[in-house]
Amino acid sequence: MKYLIAGPCAIESEKQINEIAKEVANSGANVLRGGAFKPRTSPYTFQGLGEEGLKYLVAAAKANGLKCASEITDASELPLFKDVDILQVGSRNMQNFELLKVLGKQDKPVILKRGFANTISEWLFAAEYITSGGNKNVILCERGIRTFEDSTRFTLDLSAVPVVKSKSNLDIIVDPCHAAGNWEYVIPLSKAAMAAGSDGLMIEVHNDPDHALSDGAQSLTPANFKKLVSEVGK
Ligand code: PEP
Ligand code: MN
Repeated sequence: MKYLIAGPCAIESEKQINEIAKEVANSGANVLRGGAFKPRTSPYTFQGLGEEGLKYLVAAAKANGLKCASEITDASELPLFKDVDILQVGSRNMQNFELLKVLGKQDKPVILKRGFANTISEWLFAAEYITSGGNKNVILCERGIRTFEDSTRFTLDLSAVPVVKSKSNLDIIVDPCHAAGNWEYVIPLSKAAMAAGSDGLMIEVHNDPDHALSDGAQSLTPANFKKLVSEVGK
């Protein structure tokens, strides 16, 4: 698949990201993900390693022949992202228009995650804040929306895949982890996403999910990621 993005929710240490990078590269991922600036719901939880984390991410990706992606939360962080291949805009920042306008002037791909309370049309307009600035390389990422259903963390809106395909020329990928909130649902949802026409997947992978500093419950072990790739295909 065009984008098989895998890695931890957050970069926690040099050792952690190196181990995960090696495992996901062996299983066939082409992009290593990992957050260094984490927009957490609570200000009292782990906020990410910042600049130091990005350095570990870039080095781990390079050592394993991968590209890397990380979330940028504010335009002032741009210099720190110099060696990061793909900039990610998180769900909570989908309508941070000042950030989007700045990313429209950059010469690298931007993953634009769908706001969990935003319609597809609002999402496509947000993407145009980037493309109209000159940067046409936007990858939309469906990651679940908030509904009345509470058996999953969010509701994965796979309708978004064919709808976006019919209304836009942009690539769209699916992140089943943040939608499900539980790793056990990730493989079936990944299959469904690819069947719906997704251009790729973003999967959270952690070498020790039980002790992850964020999103452990929805993170696959390297062995389960390998299983996902064998069942879904590369
Ligand atoms: C993430 O990718 O780790 C993340 C914070 O995702 P989202 O912005 O979709 O919540
Ligand atoms: Mn996460």
